[in-house]
Amino acid sequence: MRIDIAEIPQEGLELTLRAEPVALRLPDGEPPDQVRADAHLKLTRTSQGVLAEGEVTSTLSLICSRCSEPFACPVREPFSVYYQHPGTGATEGEVELTAEDLDTEFIEEGRLDVTALLQQNLLLALPVQPLCRENCQGLCPRCGANRNQGPCACPGPPLDPRFTVLERLKRDA
Ligand SMILES: [Zn+2]
Ligand SMILES: [Zn+2]
Repeated sequence: MRIDIAEIPQEGLELTLRAEPVALRLPDGEPPDQVRADAHLKLTRTSQGVLAEGEVTSTLSLICSRCSEPFACPVREPFSVYYQHPGTGATEGEVELTAEDLDTEFIEEGRLDVTALLQQNLLLALPVQPLCRENCQGLCPRCGANRNQGPCACPGPPLDPRFTVLERLKRDA
């Protein structure tokens, strides 16, 4: 989706996008190339370009970094990106707006690529080590069993606490 800069009114343009298709190449796993993203953003014209502020949310299919199972990972990323007309240097008044905490992009052919904006921010929202759940037990290093589905038959620590109790009962009997 592209927005014609000339069509942004002086008071700004607010956009709410639902299930917007965004092509996203996820790091490992078998990602869908198209994800669906919801977004809310406001575009404000300045003398040198356009300020895009908002938030993108989506649910991505990721692979858990501990147990290797696919899971649905909700992500949310607020953004504030300044789009500058190419060839325009920031004037003194604009310098404050293009402060370091603002990402700056260039406007191409008078249009702003909203899909690319969502794409970049979804990539930023990706967890470095995705976890299917906070306390994911991962795989057994010996037999490779998924410990989230219960203890495996491997001997030695770490033992399931329930078994420890059982052992103690047997010993005390
Ligand atoms: Zn996991
Ligand atoms: Zn095992």
